Amino acid sequence: MVKLFKKIKLFKKITLKIVILSIIVVSLLAISGLMTWQNWNNRQKISNLEEQINNIYKGNQQYIKDHPEFLGETPETPETVENPFSINGVIIADKKHPLPKDYNPGENPEAVEHLKELIAAGQKSNDKYASHLVSDYSGFRNYDYQMGVYNEYIAENGKQFADDFSARPGYSEHQTGLAFDLRVAGGTLYRGDDKAYDYYNDWVAQNAHNFGFIVRYRDQWQDSTGYKGEPWHLRYLGQALATEVFKSDKPLEDYLTISGGNYAKN
Ligand SMILES: [Zn+2]
Repeated sequence: MVKLFKKIKLFKKITLKIVILSIIVVSLLAISGLMTWQNWNNRQKISNLEEQINNIYKGNQQYIKDHPEFLGETPETPETVENPFSINGVIIADKKHPLPKDYNPGENPEAVEHLKELIAAGQKSNDKYASHLVSDYSGFRNYDYQMGVYNEYIAENGKQFADDFSARPGYSEHQTGLAFDLRVAGGTLYRGDDKAYDYYNDWVAQNAHNFGFIVRYRDQWQDSTGYKGEPWHLRYLGQALATEVFKSDKPLEDYLTISGGNYAKN
């Protein structure tokens, strides 16, 4: 009887020890788990903050690049800029991004090949405008040539008109070798279905991306592109990007989230 009593006492002691030990172990596990979670949570917060700071920094860098006057610097000009501005491998020439005066790549052969395919397909289409396309087009223009074009526009129609429809030398997309003006029979520029240049339901506007081109300028995009609508002016981007930009229904500057619009200095 005494033996049994002793055994029960011993058993109770052991059980109590196990229970206390278990509580200690569970508590330790819980504390360390909580600490790990907090640590992870903090690291997550820090990396989110880092990303935000990084984005603000990148945004500022881009802003300063596009608005050098912000730092009291003069904007780049064709005479001062060393390299064409490019983003994600896309060369940009607009009123905020001049090309170096001596940038002279010539006509891009890949773009021309696809332009010829586009013209041939347009001619075969039943579109009442695109079917009149001719194989003659206006492509690469160097700095000096553009100087002549721009001055001719000024002489004929004044400076405002010249700046709306033509580029100052060094600012023309034609100097990239990737821009082309379509013509129709008689040698006039292709205008699609509208003399006011702001309807874009014609065959060229709807199909250019299949050949790697976008119709670069529309009247309603002038705040971004810097130019009034030009249904004849195509820019080569390659089929994948042209299709994305076309589907976005945005001007190229907005699609790439870069500054655009008018010249930095008038
Ligand atoms: Zn053009």
